[in-house]
Amino acid sequence: MDLKKLSTTKITQVYYGLFLNRCYLCDTPSHNTFCHSCQAGLIRNDQHCLQCQRPIHSTSQICGRCQIQALSYQRCIAPYRFEGIIKTLIHSVKFHQGNHYIRPLMSLLSEQLRQEYDQQTWPEQLIYVPSHPHRIKERGFCQTRAMSTQLIKQLRRQEPDLTLKFAAKNPLIKTLHTQAQHSLSRKARLNTPRDLYRVTGHVAKHVALFDDVMTTGSTVEYCCQQLLQAGAERVDVWVLARTADKAF
Ligand SMILES: [Zn+2]
Ligand SMILES: [Zn+2]
Repeated sequence: MDLKKLSTTKITQVYYGLFLNRCYLCDTPSHNTFCHSCQAGLIRNDQHCLQCQRPIHSTSQICGRCQIQALSYQRCIAPYRFEGIIKTLIHSVKFHQGNHYIRPLMSLLSEQLRQEYDQQTWPEQLIYVPSHPHRIKERGFCQTRAMSTQLIKQLRRQEPDLTLKFAAKNPLIKTLHTQAQHSLSRKARLNTPRDLYRVTGHVAKHVALFDDVMTTGSTVEYCCQQLLQAGAERVDVWVLARTADKAF
């Protein structure tokens, strides 16, 4: 074989042929990240509030909360519900060192983002909702940072003209160590102290704010307000999964 003729494109094709023709979860042959059966276990967030993407069961298009309170973000993209396989995989990443699930999870999100921004302007900068340094020390890594790094890698490969920037140092930092959100009651989460996140670096005019899961939306809303105060003019929220909220 003439190695000089083996272009980078060819190497990439061979690589994907070898490693990406099987379902990431059950290993059956599949051209997609997940096979049909595993795909069926991914619960899409199809019936949701048009503004905050909260899953809703009523016929109204805007949830109760959005009817009384304006949001700081322009749009929210949340393709899945925090249930079934998605929930198991995210938990595995967070609590059981399931880092190898980050790539398939981000491929699901990047697929959705490419559809959403097909005819629209992409944000200029990707910023993530960070964990507190104490929690990063406990877990050994910050999962939203690891996910954003993987997401930007995939998007840049699929969209060669993309100019979305991702700073080595996230401009948004968490300043207080709080109890994990999932162990708090809904009321407690809504009353989370307001000085949790601070902007310490450059923020572009059009920002994408990434988080893995959006629960009540109060963290994301608070972070958006901080980014707007720091000079952003528009924030788009990107989350992989949204929890169902029975109260609305
Ligand atoms: Zn499968
Ligand atoms: Zn809403």
